[in-house]
Amino acid sequence: MAKIYCIANQKGGVGKTTTAVNLAAALSQLSFNVLLVDLDPQGNATTGSGLEKNNLVQSVYEVLLDRADIKKVITHSTSGYDILGSNRKLAAAEEELLSAARKELRLKTKLDEVSGQYDVIIIDCPPTLSILTINAFCAADSVLVPIQCEFYALEGVGQLINTIQLVKKSLNKSLDIEGVLMTMFDYRTNLSNEVYSEVKKYFKDKVYKNTIPRNIRLAESPSFGLPIML
Ligand code: ATP
Ligand code: MG
Repeated sequence: MAKIYCIANQKGGVGKTTTAVNLAAALSQLSFNVLLVDLDPQGNATTGSGLEKNNLVQSVYEVLLDRADIKKVITHSTSGYDILGSNRKLAAAEEELLSAARKELRLKTKLDEVSGQYDVIIIDCPPTLSILTINAFCAADSVLVPIQCEFYALEGVGQLINTIQLVKKSLNKSLDIEGVLMTMFDYRTNLSNEVYSEVKKYFKDKVYKNTIPRNIRLAESPSFGLPIML
């Protein structure tokens, strides 16, 4: 069975999608079988993987609502990994799921069908703690939290940790925090170092020693539908 990571932080623009796409590509270059799940109605991971999100015939939306077979919706990306794409339609799923049975476990049930075909599954979450993110927490073995090196970095982190702990208590006992990744680190500023220290005080050994530098190529690569190494 695949190891399933979800990339989550309800703060917007902290580097979740950039991490998801580039991690998927890097692991697939290392010969792992990887599935990337775009669980965000913005569809950024879909676009960043070279797919035209508005032309998807079916997407993660139809899969979650039992209207399509996950095996038929997954496609192969030019970057080497498989992808379950998403687009604006997924926004409707949030409402439709609220009245559905086992609404938190929809994604888990679907991923169980394909998990045996992959080494790693990476779920890119939306910038909310909605039912979509709860579905990701229920399906995942662990959560990778990207934090942007900026002044308000830790704002909302308490709420994120509470939500993870609630899910751990009730729906997914094995859920853990995989690690905390500092993104858009700028070596020229004191701020980045100060934020790193603050985050380290809070998360201790969970913070990765390696940080992701602010890098224009990383910002440009989604417009080519490619990860940074390609
Ligand atoms: P959202 O919450 O909207 O889903 P996100 O957390 O997925 O956002 P990204 O989309 O990965 O964040 O990144 C936000 C923006 O910052 C994007 O324009 C992205 O290209 C850019 N970006 C991400 N990481 C870096 C980096 N290390 N250097 C420069 N730009 C970056
Ligand atoms: Mg994103």
